[in-house]
Amino acid sequence: TPSIGVFALQGDVREHVQVLTRLGVDAFTVRRPEELERCDGLVLPGGESTTMYKLARTFDLFEPLARRIGAGMPTFGTCAGMIMLADRVRDGIDGQETLGGLDITVRRNAFGRQVDSFEGEIAFDGFDDPVHAVFIRAPWVEEAGAGVEVLATIPSGPAAGRIVAVRQGNLVATSFHPEVADDDRIHRYFVDLVKQSSQSLPVQ
Ligand code: GLN
Repeated sequence: TPSIGVFALQGDVREHVQVLTRLGVDAFTVRRPEELERCDGLVLPGGESTTMYKLARTFDLFEPLARRIGAGMPTFGTCAGMIMLADRVRDGIDGQETLGGLDITVRRNAFGRQVDSFEGEIAFDGFDDPVHAVFIRAPWVEEAGAGVEVLATIPSGPAAGRIVAVRQGNLVATSFHPEVADDDRIHRYFVDLVKQSSQSLPVQ
């Protein structure tokens, strides 16, 4: 059973822990570096990225997180968590820091006022049926480097074609919130990634 932590200084932590637990994972909250050390994989939840990086700094989690992610720990970011994984942010606050790792540029609160929050069915790479995607003051991916796999885009409307789910190596990120959508497939996809990655570690 893989051990998957959920960054818990801010955000919709409980929803992620519930989905992961339902999938049979050893899921727990991460607020301290010792808890991070137990993780085979990590979830960065939705919430507020500007608060997340500040709290991560305050609680001395920022550097350890950035190190583990940089060293290849499988990590799944939703919404604010996607922003935390992005190498570059537009419309961030002054001095906003991210953990980085994904070669993407995200735009915060990208969908604008009128469609601030919305839901819809979106095709997701490799899935037979679309996922129900819930967007809450969501970012989109404005630029993605050559090594980044696009998993989902907005199908229609003014934001048609915008990238809302990506993967690069062991990092997965969605603009939307699968943890509130009663559909475990994206979490399952991530758990499989964690399993594969921990199997490929040398036996100790
Ligand atoms: N707008 C938030 C941010 O910039 C993200 C919103 C969310 O996670 N639902 O961090």
